[in-house]
Amino acid sequence: MEIACLDLEGVLIPEIWINFAERTGIDELRATTRDIPDYDVLMTQRLAILRQHKLGLPDIQQVIDGMGPLDGAREFLDWLRERFQVVILSDTFYEFAAPMMRQLGHPTLLCHKLETDEQGMVVNYHIRQKDPKRHAVLALKGLNFRTIAAGDSYNDTTMLSEADRGILFRPPQNVIDEFPQFPVVKDYQAFREAFREASIRDI
Ligand SMILES: [Mg+2]
Repeated sequence: MEIACLDLEGVLIPEIWINFAERTGIDELRATTRDIPDYDVLMTQRLAILRQHKLGLPDIQQVIDGMGPLDGAREFLDWLRERFQVVILSDTFYEFAAPMMRQLGHPTLLCHKLETDEQGMVVNYHIRQKDPKRHAVLALKGLNFRTIAAGDSYNDTTMLSEADRGILFRPPQNVIDEFPQFPVVKDYQAFREAFREASIRDI
């Protein structure tokens, strides 16, 4: 049995924080772990900025709903789901991903959780576990699935290394250079071919 593990942001949907910053014009929300390496500091700052701008979860979800998946992502995912069991492994939060999941036909998603107060303001976040993508692949291997994993960036590389086969989708150059063992694809047609190639079945 084979299972496909897919990253979400940068693979099926745009980067949520960067696009959210563009759509709302709140430049401080553009910061990523490249600017602030400590994720806890970064998230605490993001939540404070949202509160400052009085943006509650319904406002945030409305903006995210307008982003839409990447061009061709839905068709690719439908193609993949006809051929594999598919699990999406992401470092985003269920509440942020919800509008996108609807547009993608509600695939299985394992990610993190936000906490809101009565006014709908985001007050805290809960990371399900450390290195969650790799742990998910490990667990699936424990269930006797052969795993094929695909992602676009650094936070995917432990999952790609743990999987039986790994694929990079539109990665930045530093990831290509550091992880030459993984095939690199740049569009969804090549992505389909890479999954065909990685599979031990005739799909
Ligand atoms: Mg990504």
